[in-house]
Amino acid sequence: MIVGCGSHQIDYKQFKMVPISKRTSRDQPESVAADNVGIILSYHRIADPGLDPWGLRVSPENFENQLSVIRKFGAPVSLRDFVSSYQTGNVPKNAVVITFDDGYSDNFTEALPLLKEFDIPSTIFVSSGFIGKPYFWWDALETIFLRPYRLPRNLTLCLDSGQAEWNLGNAVHYTREQYEKDCISCKWRGEPGSRLRIYHEVYETLWLVPFRRRLEIVSEIVQWAGYDNCDFAVCIPLSTSQIRKFDSEDLITIGAHTVNHLPLDTVNGNERNDEIFDCREKLQGIISKLVDTFAYPHGKYDHESSKLLEKYDFLCACTTEESPVNKRCNPFLLPRFAAANVGGPEFLNWLSECFAGR
Ligand SMILES: [Zn+2]
Repeated sequence: MIVGCGSHQIDYKQFKMVPISKRTSRDQPESVAADNVGIILSYHRIADPGLDPWGLRVSPENFENQLSVIRKFGAPVSLRDFVSSYQTGNVPKNAVVITFDDGYSDNFTEALPLLKEFDIPSTIFVSSGFIGKPYFWWDALETIFLRPYRLPRNLTLCLDSGQAEWNLGNAVHYTREQYEKDCISCKWRGEPGSRLRIYHEVYETLWLVPFRRRLEIVSEIVQWAGYDNCDFAVCIPLSTSQIRKFDSEDLITIGAHTVNHLPLDTVNGNERNDEIFDCREKLQGIISKLVDTFAYPHGKYDHESSKLLEKYDFLCACTTEESPVNKRCNPFLLPRFAAANVGGPEFLNWLSECFAGR
């Protein structure tokens, strides 16, 4: 389904993860595959997956196993080191770069100890507008709708275009049995009238609303559901002090991911500049050093965005285009594979195929 955001259209389904078993670089022409110099992985959260409609969580156990595979069979390098030399091919064989998007607190509590244990560098791309906030707006919706708790029967949202109303009917109750079924099947959007479907409908509706109003509406939904901010403790954004502690680790680089996590191809020129440079300024204020790496929220960018980053002394920018990096890649459009929640053997198979250029 395509949902609109002003005059710009967002391809809603593209935010969905592709299962790792279906991802491959086989489609590359041989001449391109021969130029492959490494891969960049993007993670979001290191947490038990539960019902994870966007496939953004890798369990701590699987993350540990993936790091073990990378340490054993790959050559982990920092994004900065990789970018400074990949165009000349002067990077270690089987180079692997690890990145995290958004700036979740679990990157600090769960991922950092494991990164240190395996001595693997990583770049954390932070959306500065959410630092220290109780939740990212999309996680508040997931927590409210996709956990096996009772909700009120009627939900009414006041939008600029009128009211949007839901009668939850049987979905007032979300049994643990149904929740666990949904965790396993994670059927895209669920059956009509189900909790999963209502979640997606509310999520899509909110994409139609300007950002500031969207945050207000999410806050209204939090109240409607009877939640308070501490109910979102498992998915909170990084705090200022966590970012500082992160930065004090030699293995970690802090990168920018805009202020409000908006797709950059859906905002006007002034807003785009603010999203990029206000984020950089805020992060530089926290860590007192240059922030020069960037990741496009939702992987969405336009020509102006990448040119702007280049012009104003960023080193590189990462997309969500899933392919290995080759020598000819534009450093401001670096492809990345989204890491899936799979264990060591499956991860090793996938990584081997990437390295072999298949
Ligand atoms: Zn993001």
